[in-house]
Amino acid sequence: MTQAAATGTIGHDLATWQRPRVTGGPFKQMFFTWFQPVVLLAMIAFWTFAPDRYATFAWAVGIGIALRLICLVLEWVSQRHASWQLTWKELTTDLFYVGISYTLVKYAGKHIGSDAAIDAIKHSFNLHTAWAGHWPFLLQVFLTMFLFDFGQYWMHRAMHNWHPLWLTHAPHHFITQLNVFKGAVGNPVELFLIGLGLGGFFDFLPRAALAAGGISLAIDVYNHANIRFNTPRWWLYLFNSIEHHSLHHSQDYDSTRCNYAGTFIFIDRLFGTCIDDESELVGQEGGRRMSIREQMLYPFLPLRRLLPLGHDPQAVPAE
Ligand SMILES: [Zn+2]
Ligand SMILES: [Zn+2]
Repeated sequence: MTQAAATGTIGHDLATWQRPRVTGGPFKQMFFTWFQPVVLLAMIAFWTFAPDRYATFAWAVGIGIALRLICLVLEWVSQRHASWQLTWKELTTDLFYVGISYTLVKYAGKHIGSDAAIDAIKHSFNLHTAWAGHWPFLLQVFLTMFLFDFGQYWMHRAMHNWHPLWLTHAPHHFITQLNVFKGAVGNPVELFLIGLGLGGFFDFLPRAALAAGGISLAIDVYNHANIRFNTPRWWLYLFNSIEHHSLHHSQDYDSTRCNYAGTFIFIDRLFGTCIDDESELVGQEGGRRMSIREQMLYPFLPLRRLLPLGHDPQAVPAE
């Protein structure tokens, strides 16, 4: 438990936590109450029942882009905080990082990431796990999602507890507002580390991996989005949310040390790191906005102190 939680300055009892509701008429209320559960059910149904010709990587990418664009529109229809309103500058920066995560980070993950390493280990020990592909399909999907999130929980928690890893993750915490594409903003080294996982040990069906990606997205796409939903309590109990994740982005470092899971907040509940609360004021160093250049160089700052390489990017003024 963090100091702020222990002293009672943050955190609610989930059962009695009163959150601001969506403003507007009955249709808008219904839409923003049911949107998240209905999209999740639709995603599960699609990946379970769609014919093979639709259960492809191209469809997974297409659905992912469509869902993000819908969220972009919803940020305008039911805005969470006016102070997080997207500007052209923010959107351009975000899309730069989306481009990097779709290309550079994916490429590195594929060739030097955990799946490549696990393949090599399985090959040298002559391990075969094809039996995993005969398990019930939704079990394969859930295990893929859970193993990935369990790994990223511990990696993320380590990033908040060990300085060399924090340096790779800190740029993500320097974002000064939350929007749908902000999940991609960060140093590429961090995005690579977070992508490591143990799921590659099981030879689940390729379709299970696509389904896991799609269903995870239907849960965690809202974690950075500036959208006000009437999110059901059971959702907040099981899944990560903008509430939990905005608290994780708090300006005071102590309040960031909770809610580490990407998808399943119940992992935080299991390990005592969940705090049910939210924050509007996000960022680090009082909300100083980092330039892209500084975000790229930040993990390597200690090297600059060792070597006389010129100016410390820390000295670059905020824009
Ligand atoms: Zn973090
Ligand atoms: Zn975040």
